[in-house]
Amino acid sequence: MFEKILIANRGEIALRIHRACRELGIQTVAVHSTADADAMHVRLADESVCIGPPPARGSYLNMPAILSAATVTGADAIHPGVGFLAENADFAQMVIEHGFTFIGPTPAHIRIMGDKITAKRAMRELGVPTVPGTEGPVGSDAEASGLARDIGFPVIVKASAGGGGRGMKLARTPAELSGALAAARAEAKAAFGNDAVYLERFLERPRHVELQVLGDGQGAVIHLGERDCSLQRRHQKLLEEAPSPALNAGERGSLGARVLGALTKLGYASAGTLEFLYEDGEFHFIEMNTRLQVEHPVSEMITGIDLVREQIRIAAGGRILITQDEVRFNGHAIEARINAEHPETFVPSPGRIVDYHAPGGPGVRVDSALYAGYRVPPYYDSLISKLIVYGATRNECLMRLRRALEEYVIGGIETTIPLHRRVVAEPDFINGDYDIHWLERFVARAPA
Ligand code: ADP
Repeated sequence: MFEKILIANRGEIALRIHRACRELGIQTVAVHSTADADAMHVRLADESVCIGPPPARGSYLNMPAILSAATVTGADAIHPGVGFLAENADFAQMVIEHGFTFIGPTPAHIRIMGDKITAKRAMRELGVPTVPGTEGPVGSDAEASGLARDIGFPVIVKASAGGGGRGMKLARTPAELSGALAAARAEAKAAFGNDAVYLERFLERPRHVELQVLGDGQGAVIHLGERDCSLQRRHQKLLEEAPSPALNAGERGSLGARVLGALTKLGYASAGTLEFLYEDGEFHFIEMNTRLQVEHPVSEMITGIDLVREQIRIAAGGRILITQDEVRFNGHAIEARINAEHPETFVPSPGRIVDYHAPGGPGVRVDSALYAGYRVPPYYDSLISKLIVYGATRNECLMRLRRALEEYVIGGIETTIPLHRRVVAEPDFINGDYDIHWLERFVARAPA
């Protein structure tokens, strides 16, 4: 087992990894930008190294600085967390070449899945159903228009290198296609330096259902069930639950069997998530994330399996010790993402936390690096806390979420807590009756 792990991230996810390391008796090294010198992940780690200025490209994306920090502190392994370098195959390769262990999948698997076109092709070949669309990137507008006609309107133009909901544009009619192509290409070029785009049929009322998997690269792959992440705004998740209120045991079982077959053939190692759109009883693969997900805690709550600990054990050469039949699913869990944003306009709201009181009591878990007096910096993702609740049934979980949201005080900045309080009171949500477009309709229809 490792003696010391460098955590190449910040905020709540850096803390989450630190906690897993502590429980395994592993020392931690935090890295931070000059804006994060007072951050909780720095305070709790055994050692910390400043790796650059506030903008992420000089610090949390600065590969040489991170590798130097690992060298000077004598770390054995690097955990990339979520975001930043977590799905950068070149970084994973560099980590390995410098003699450290990368806590994640192989660089080859990160590369295949990091490009949505190659990921879809790979999954299709492995027998996983995908959303109907183009086989590869589209060229001229004329070619795109012929392909779109074959797929059938409406179509969605998506960036091959996409992530975070960027580089995605809807064309409802042939007349809208060239504008959507230009906008998606420009956004993809600016965000990812790669303007390759492809087309998919736009599904009108799907749910986003994703499957959490864990492989050891030594023949074993298991899944920890699905998460329903249909509550989204601007293609970004706001609340996730496990299990999905929309699936029955048969659908869950057949999805699981298909995915395990594919990933066993691939020889996948570490944690990963396959994302699907689910409509009319059918699953359509959209992408795979070769890392931990923000919403991983809901799967941990219903299975009792610590995903970060498993990632670390597997990276150290450990095997998965249980079979799929031994994975037990108990109860229900929901995660509410608390962002430093205005609850209706979603405009970022960085600044100083004046009052802070986190909820507690039975079934409540808060993954957050906040404290009273902390200043939320304006440079990074607006996620500041994850409120995760567990209940024996979905109903108990909902009641618990409602009371935990009532208890939660974050004073001094705007947060998404008021939006969550409204959502949990909505009959559609209580009934589990919502698709990926529900939240945007709700926000537009019922301003507070
Ligand atoms: P990203 O990597 O940017 O998060 P995804 O491919 O995972 O992009 O898609 C994000 C979200 O966008 C999905 O959860 C869904 O809400 C929406 N979306 C993606 N593809 C489609 C589609 N073909 N039809 C309808 N909605 C889609």
